[in-house]
Amino acid sequence: TMIDETRASADAAHAPHPAVRLPKGLLLLDGQLVEPLQGDRMIDAIDPSTGRTIMAFPACSAADVDRAVQAAQRCFESRAWQSMRPIDRGRLLERLALLVEDHADELAMLESLDSGKLIGVTRAIDLQFTIDGLRYFAGWSSKIAGQYVALNPLVPEDAIYRAYTERRPVGVVGGITPWNFPIGQAIQKIAPAIAFGCTVVLKPSEETSLTTLRLGELILEAGFPAGAVNIVTGFGQEAGAALVDHPMVRKIAFTGSTATGQRILAASAVTMKRVTLELGGKSPTIILADADLERAIPGAAAAIFSNSGQICTAGSRLLVEAPLYDQVIEGVSDIARTLKLGSAFDPATQVGPLISARQRDRVGGIVNNGLAEGAIALAGGEAVDGDGWFYRPTILGGVASQMSVMREEIFGPVVCAMRVDDGDDLVKLANDTPFGLAASIWTRNLDRAHMLADRIDAGTVWLNTHNVLDLAMPFGGNKLSGIGREFGHEAINAFTEPKAVCMRLDPVAAAR
Ligand code: NAD
Repeated sequence: TMIDETRASADAAHAPHPAVRLPKGLLLLDGQLVEPLQGDRMIDAIDPSTGRTIMAFPACSAADVDRAVQAAQRCFESRAWQSMRPIDRGRLLERLALLVEDHADELAMLESLDSGKLIGVTRAIDLQFTIDGLRYFAGWSSKIAGQYVALNPLVPEDAIYRAYTERRPVGVVGGITPWNFPIGQAIQKIAPAIAFGCTVVLKPSEETSLTTLRLGELILEAGFPAGAVNIVTGFGQEAGAALVDHPMVRKIAFTGSTATGQRILAASAVTMKRVTLELGGKSPTIILADADLERAIPGAAAAIFSNSGQICTAGSRLLVEAPLYDQVIEGVSDIARTLKLGSAFDPATQVGPLISARQRDRVGGIVNNGLAEGAIALAGGEAVDGDGWFYRPTILGGVASQMSVMREEIFGPVVCAMRVDDGDDLVKLANDTPFGLAASIWTRNLDRAHMLADRIDAGTVWLNTHNVLDLAMPFGGNKLSGIGREFGHEAINAFTEPKAVCMRLDPVAAAR
């Protein structure tokens, strides 16, 4: 049944946090908050810190998705949307930014409750990124431009031609998001879609839909035209797949696992949808022999243990040049052993829970396979008994490139450490993965840093830092890490199509 109290408090025994404001659990559809067509099909939202149910929200069917897509298409075709000044689309995003800012504490608590993300981090990073993202793309709305094109007429005497290109919005965008940055990811899809003149139907992860539902309420308050933004919740294989299969959806902006991305790419072939796919990774943290260990050791630990390793760019392969290997392994293992695990709301917590029991068991399964194949747990290597879904920060040694722990994205607090000996080809080791999302290089040698950065096959390379995402910096992956880039000036390519307009000028007519 639907929970319609707007306030509920989490279990008192586990709740050093005040009451959290819950969303109504209604879909944003055609400018209204509505019930799904089959109101009895619900999904439980669960607090990963405690395993307790927070509330239930709709599991939408293909029919609900169709209603949302139709509304988005109607809005897209409407005179109101087509004639809205770009700068006024930006104003809608600015208004939403103000509302999110006003409700940032409340949204951060809801996010931490639903996802297990540490409350301090959620407020300082996730919510700030969300607000900044709205403002960043609000500014883009008024900076869309094409180019003049010099032509090469085949009949030279017929030479008076003019051509220019425009960037036209693709149309209805389907946004599909994962559970590791729920509200940030929602804005990452909605804000550029609106800025570049598209309309959007967003389906959040079934693991973390609450902040996106609440965002829907704020979008309504911000006064977006009906149908410009629609939010449907539900399971990937039902609601997500319905969005991907819908012929009116012209583009899918997806962030999630590589397996789902592959399914979406294949399904999109039928309707020839545009896709951007932000997928998984197995990013190397590379520590060179001259690295500053005061920075590199905590940096390598943060690269993998932040957000309990549930970051697509997590530094999950630690490659260390031989002279520093023992020191780095000891340092990162010490950190792994002393990090405090706990509830997202306990200010002392350094590592929170994994998103679900299933994810904790998946992480455990991959680690156990690795141990069976000969890896050695230098720290961690096991789940934590009790309430919530915790896995100990883990560092595995004795790994080889072909082991499953080295090849699969684990998406948990597990790093595989490898010594790079004299004569080993560092670039080859770093690129020895089906993924190509990110890498970090830790060194004092600028020449080596940049020479290596040139040869790492990844969308982002960090030097002496890791996991820095910025709205102004293009983001995405190579190989199995995805297709396309979000953020920065690249975002315009992801949400618009170029149109060439060409005309022949007639000198005779001009002389009349
Ligand atoms: P997931 O692929 O299981 O789910 C992501 C979304 O896809 C969810 O909303 C889900 O409901 C939906 N979905 C599932 N099956 C679908 C289908 N057949 N058709 C349409 N939609 C479907 O991923 P997840 O477990 O939620 O997220 C973790 C993954 O996301 C990791 O692999 C991580 O690396 C990746 N990720 C990538 C980035 C990036 O930008 N590259 C950022 C964050 C997370």
